[in-house]
Amino acid sequence: MKVLICDATDPKALKTIEEAGVEVVNQPDITPEGLIETIPEFPCMVVRSRTKVTREVIDAGKTLKAIVRAGVGLDNIDVAYAKEKGIQVLNTPTASTQSVAELTVGYMLALARRIPQMTASMKEGKWEKKAFTGIEVAGKTLGLIGSGRIGRAVADRAIALGMSVVAYDPYVTVLENIELVELDELLTRSDFISLHVPHTDETHNILGQEAFGKIKTGVRIINCGRGGTIDEDALYQALQDGVVAGAALDVYAEEPLGDPKLYSLDQVIGSPHVGAGTQEAKARVGQIAAQKVIESLKG
Ligand code: NAD
Repeated sequence: MKVLICDATDPKALKTIEEAGVEVVNQPDITPEGLIETIPEFPCMVVRSRTKVTREVIDAGKTLKAIVRAGVGLDNIDVAYAKEKGIQVLNTPTASTQSVAELTVGYMLALARRIPQMTASMKEGKWEKKAFTGIEVAGKTLGLIGSGRIGRAVADRAIALGMSVVAYDPYVTVLENIELVELDELLTRSDFISLHVPHTDETHNILGQEAFGKIKTGVRIINCGRGGTIDEDALYQALQDGVVAGAALDVYAEEPLGDPKLYSLDQVIGSPHVGAGTQEAKARVGQIAAQKVIESLKG
């Protein structure tokens, strides 16, 4: 039993796999050509986002039974083709739930009090007490677009901060402490809107021009979900028009960020897709990936 590790993976995770009696072949810098040559003898491979598991790789993987993605997105794997060939594709979606939820809450508070803007002002040697009157989040309504693992973790934290939470999620029927509403109602009621949906045909630009036409004036928007779910031009316009008071973005239609126009606005804060970027989430990704390798090889 052996596994090919194709991208840099937490050494503790490799140790866990070895301790289970699986031979680990660690080639974190393997090239696409090297992968085609090496993969035929491996029943399992681990990738992060660097290695592309294309049709060619899958065809070369004569004994391949499982592809383990240490992370969430599967954009670098031809999942449909792998499934067609009877190869399992496994990922670690639960590993980063708390980290993304905490970043979202951090952004909610940062937007409410304009913490990054105040810090920038202090660094310029200013003392602008009056310019930075913020708002409280307590007593406000948070609208979640998507109430899966991360949406619900955000809701728990928002409720602890004294907020009420509504959610739009057509695939969920019952939620504890969260009122399920239609999208239009969410748009008109929410003081903060946070997106936690995958990017699909249905969610593409779900916050677009039409939605910004209905949204509550002064809303603050957070996207730590997936790029492509907000129409960035429409958001820019809504910020310019004062309809949206602030936005915090971790994900973008194009990554690395193509058009930096949104960041020319003072009301926009954000990060380069680091929702899962904590020590704890990284360690958890490794351990969960290790378990998936062991289970897939040992049944
Ligand atoms: P999840 O699958 O548990 O939840 C997603 C929810 O979206 C589900 O409840 C689903 O019913 C809902 N949904 C699907 N289509 C919808 C639609 N058209 N309208 C409204 N709701 C819809 O996923 P999760 O673990 O909560 O992750 C949420 C998102 O966060 C994912 O897109 C994931 O890729 C992203 N994510 C981002 C980072 C980051 O670094 N920023 C890290 C991890 C996950």
